[in-house]
Amino acid sequence: MIKRRETKVIKIGSQKIGGNNPILVQSMCNTDTHDAAATVKQINALQKAGCEIIRVAVLNMAAAKKLGQIKKQIQIPLVADIHFDYQLALEAIQQGVDKIRINPGNIGSEDKIKMVVEAAKKKKVPIRIGVNSGSVEKRILAKYKNKATALALTESALYHVKLLEKFDFKDIVISIKASDVNRTIAAYQLLSKKVRYPLHLGVTEAGTKWIGTIKSAIGIGSLLNQGIGDTIRVSLTDDPIEEVRVGWEILKDLRLRKRGRVLISCPTCGRTQINLIPLAQAVEKATEHITKPITIAVMGCIVNGPGEAREADIGVAGGKGVGVIFKKGKTLRTVKEKDLLKELLAEINKL
Ligand code: SF4
Repeated sequence: MIKRRETKVIKIGSQKIGGNNPILVQSMCNTDTHDAAATVKQINALQKAGCEIIRVAVLNMAAAKKLGQIKKQIQIPLVADIHFDYQLALEAIQQGVDKIRINPGNIGSEDKIKMVVEAAKKKKVPIRIGVNSGSVEKRILAKYKNKATALALTESALYHVKLLEKFDFKDIVISIKASDVNRTIAAYQLLSKKVRYPLHLGVTEAGTKWIGTIKSAIGIGSLLNQGIGDTIRVSLTDDPIEEVRVGWEILKDLRLRKRGRVLISCPTCGRTQINLIPLAQAVEKATEHITKPITIAVMGCIVNGPGEAREADIGVAGGKGVGVIFKKGKTLRTVKEKDLLKELLAEINKL
């Protein structure tokens, strides 16, 4: 079992992160925030897919002024992503967002930082400091031969933390992302030893669905396995729904959360006598909508299949032109190959 690092609990609207609270799955809209209807539609679809906190980009005042309208039409906490402009941060807080992501060091004078902090305190809105390879301050970079190393990323994050703590603000979440997996892991490891604030994990600009999934699974998965991380966002160049799906798979595979199906399927080999690959893919697709935790196995042979998938709630093991449906490793019945998908799904539905 994974022993999680002890962190401060931070409340984000209806959700809590840090401490022993579940590790939450986040995503970010790619709609124009100014288009409230499209943004609400995407947020609701993401929530259905399992998104638990949503972030939107706030580029200008017109977009900031739509945040209240968006917030009223959604059920998950809303985070405003702001760069540089303290007035956008003040407006977002005023509009009732549940968290803002802004780096205090980029706001400008201390007066402006103070104004944002005071407004956030008053409305109990936490602030996420989001450091990434591209945002490290020039003077810090200079110390590290102009490279955003893990140490440079950590130093930058601690600099922003100090600016908030200076005004006695401690409702902080931190992310420290690089697009390089090893650097991301090293940076979070370093930071986790320095602060007790909850950490938002991610490998930034991880890439397209296939490449980005692998990078994120290694980066986020390694850290979670070490007990580091309180909320995750998988960054993919794809529909954000895919980010949510990947996020859940990472958490499920590490047994940190339960939601929907866990699919076990064998790689096929010379013993396989049914067309297993399309069957496994069809089962994966047909069970995508299930939210109840269930383990399904799709195995190539009766010799090893049910035994190897003993922990599965329900499964199928291929024979010659047939498949044996089994439950918790015990045989239920033998079905012709052409009927396998239908019969297996019928058994799954019974569960
Ligand atoms: Fe081969 Fe059977 Fe193992 Fe599948 S379950 S890889 S068919 S031995």
